Amino acid sequence: MIETTDLNLLQFASADEIKARTDAKLRALVKHAYRNVSYYREIFDKSGVHCSDIKKVEDLHLLPVLSRQTVKDNFQRKLVADGIPKIRRRLTSTTGSTGIPLKFFSDAASNALRSEAWDFLDRWAGIRHGEHNRVWLGAPRPKPRFNLRHPIKSWFERKRFRQPKDLISVFMLKAETVSGILYEMQKRSPYFIYGISSSIRFIAKHIEEDGIALDTSPVSVIGTSDTLLPAHQQHISDIFNCPVYSRYGSYEMGGGVAQTCPDVSESIHVIPELVILEIVDDEGLPVQPGESGNILLTELTNYVMPLIRYDTGDVGIALGPCGCGRGFPAIREIIGRNYEQIQSPSGQAIHGWEFEVYLFYEKDYKKYIAEYQIIQKGNTIVLRVVPAKFFSEYIQNTLRSDLKQMIGEEMVVEVEPVRYIECAQNGKKPLIRIIHDI
Ligand SMILES: [Zn+2]
Repeated sequence: MIETTDLNLLQFASADEIKARTDAKLRALVKHAYRNVSYYREIFDKSGVHCSDIKKVEDLHLLPVLSRQTVKDNFQRKLVADGIPKIRRRLTSTTGSTGIPLKFFSDAASNALRSEAWDFLDRWAGIRHGEHNRVWLGAPRPKPRFNLRHPIKSWFERKRFRQPKDLISVFMLKAETVSGILYEMQKRSPYFIYGISSSIRFIAKHIEEDGIALDTSPVSVIGTSDTLLPAHQQHISDIFNCPVYSRYGSYEMGGGVAQTCPDVSESIHVIPELVILEIVDDEGLPVQPGESGNILLTELTNYVMPLIRYDTGDVGIALGPCGCGRGFPAIREIIGRNYEQIQSPSGQAIHGWEFEVYLFYEKDYKKYIAEYQIIQKGNTIVLRVVPAKFFSEYIQNTLRSDLKQMIGEEMVVEVEPVRYIECAQNGKKPLIRIIHDI
C-alpha cells in the first residue's frame, strides 16, 4: 500500500492504491466507533452486523444512514467516543441547508491534515499563498457574546474581536453595492475570489448587465456554500475571465472535502484522506454513474465524534473515474445544495444562508428553534417554527419584529409555530419554499 500522506504525490497514485488506503482507514474508524461510541454499538448489535463485516467502502450500505435529526438527538449522550481526550473536542454548530440547528464536535487532531487539504485545493486553483491575495465574499462574523460566567475572558475576547481583513460582507447584497465591492476586490490585486457561489453569481450578473469593465481579473474564482452548476461556472468564468472552481465542504467535516478537477472541469474530486463520499438512493444503496442521489459523508479523521454515512441533505450526481488520470474518487456535480432565495417586490434576493446568519448568529435564537422553514407566498414571508423548549409567545413576537427589521417594510412577516415541518414530494425539507399559486 502506498505510504505517503503528501496529497501532491498521492493524487497521482492509482485508483486501486487510493482505494486500499481508504478501506484501511474505514476499517480502523469502524472498529473505533464500535468499541467506543454507544450509538454505533447499538446499531451494529441491533442490525446483526459485526464491525469486521465492514471491510471496504462497498460494505458501508450494511449500516444505516445517519440523519441530522439522529445526530441532534444523540449528541454528547451517545455519539461522543469514550477514551479520546476532551482536549481534542472542538464544538461547532450549523443549520446547513436543512433548517435544523445542530451541534457537533470535530477532532482537533485532524486540524493539520484539514488545513493541508485546504492549501492543496488552493494550489489546484492556481493560487500561490504569499503571492495572491484572497478576496473573501462571505457572511460577517458575529461578535462573541458576553459570557457572565467568564467575564474577564469574555471581555478580552470581545475586545480582541475583528472581522477578518480579507472579508467583504455579502450579507443582504444589493445591486447598488456591487461597484463598491468590485473596487475593494481590485485594490487587492493580484487576487483570487473565494466565497458564496450565489453571491458571486449575483455580482457577475450585475457586471454583465451594467457593462462594467474589470481593470484586473482574479487568478481564479472558488465558489462554495451553495450550488454552482456548470452553466453558472461558465458564466462566471466568462465575466471574470479566469477559471472557476466549485469547492464542496461542510461545517460538520471541517472545511473543503472536494473540488473541481484542475484538468477536467466536468468532474469534482473528493479528498480521500478526509472523507468517503457516497451518492445513494433513498434506500441507502449506491446509484449508478450519471444518476443523482443523496450525498452521505463518512469523516475518516474524526475520532471524537465519528460520523459514518452522515446525510448532508445535499444531492449529487455520481461519476465513474475522471479522465485526468488522478486516482482520487470523482463525482460529476453537486446539485440541490440550493438554499433557495426569497425575492422581494423591489427585486432584492435574500438567500437561505442569510436567514441562518441573522437568526442564529446575530440574534441567537438557537435555544428557541428546533427546526424552521421559510415560506414565501407573494409578498408574505411565513417563518414556520418547530418550537424548542424555551419558545414562548414573547419570543414569537420578537422573532417577527426582528425578521421584519431584516427584510424591510415591503413584505409582510408572520411567525407560525408548527408541530413538524412537512417533507416535500422528494422527501426533502427545503429551507425556503416559494408558493406561487395563491
Ligand atoms: Zn480529474
